[in-house]
Amino acid sequence: MKINTDKFRRIVLGISLFSSITAFAQTPVVDHTNVREGESVEYCTTHKKMKHLKETVPGFVQDFEALQAQLAEVEQNMLANPPAKRVIYKIPIVFHVLHNNGTENISDEQIMDAFAILNRDYRLLNTDALNVHNDFKASNPNATCTPADIEIEFVLATKAPNGTCFNGITRTVSALTSDGSSGSAQVNAIVNGNNVYNGQWPPNKYLNVFIADEIGGAAGYTFNPGFSATNMYFNGIFMLHNYLGSIGTSSVTSSRALTHEVGHWLNLSHTWGGDNNPGVGCGSDQVNDTPETRGVTSCALNENFCGPRANVENYMDYSYCSKMFSQGQKARMRVQLWLQQEQGEITSGQQPI
Ligand SMILES: [Zn+2]
Repeated sequence: MKINTDKFRRIVLGISLFSSITAFAQTPVVDHTNVREGESVEYCTTHKKMKHLKETVPGFVQDFEALQAQLAEVEQNMLANPPAKRVIYKIPIVFHVLHNNGTENISDEQIMDAFAILNRDYRLLNTDALNVHNDFKASNPNATCTPADIEIEFVLATKAPNGTCFNGITRTVSALTSDGSSGSAQVNAIVNGNNVYNGQWPPNKYLNVFIADEIGGAAGYTFNPGFSATNMYFNGIFMLHNYLGSIGTSSVTSSRALTHEVGHWLNLSHTWGGDNNPGVGCGSDQVNDTPETRGVTSCALNENFCGPRANVENYMDYSYCSKMFSQGQKARMRVQLWLQQEQGEITSGQQPI
């Protein structure tokens, strides 16, 4: 199958013109309609960050939607003509801890726990996937959608950009850990002050995860891909320290937040779409097998406001019982990686889906 990648390059290059815009100040006031039941931080603000770009950056909406449409076209072509062999993508990952010698300076063990959970979830090695609602079980011939092995693995980076060997974790002492009003300022503090390598950690070589005490009222956020691939702020993931892993300052109920954010980083929206908070209205996530839903903030397994039973156990919903990505979400994430491969941003693998 011949795919014209030139048009992707044009679109991505066009969008990248906006990469120099500065981060916007974010009020730390918590929007309680964007919070899981019983919690005090917004579970995710990726959709708000994207909405802000759409509203403020000239041409962003047109370029973003054009790119999404063409990615969808490639996805359909690849699904119709599946390759004979599929590779396991391996993505180098770095955890950058921004701390001021408080509890947010989480242990290596907590980070390794988060790393293990991320790999477990993306290879469908989580045993709770066997317990999804019957409407989503692989053994059910009438299942709406079923759990997928995304066939992506995360590998701890072992060398910094200058060749320094390290354990995949950097630590930076800065009071900015408690001021998430500017994510780019927090990134700059890490770039200039971490204990391994002071300089850029190119996001086309590392998945940078920034861990702090406060990130603007959210548990996590990132940006959908397609623009500013070389910018650490726009192409990295922010996590609250107590939503990373299942031990230490975090807990089992917080432990899937990184799985969720990496989904956004690989071009997934929330199951109810990318434009609003959970519970507001029915919407589409542009994935071909996830049922239409409005989103939940608890494990409401009978949620069906939009018609079909919602896949509230999906990582891209806001329930406490998330345990699966769908096959359609897998295709969407791997097409995104295929594009990055075509653009030379990743080097492993040949055929993403
Ligand atoms: Zn989210």
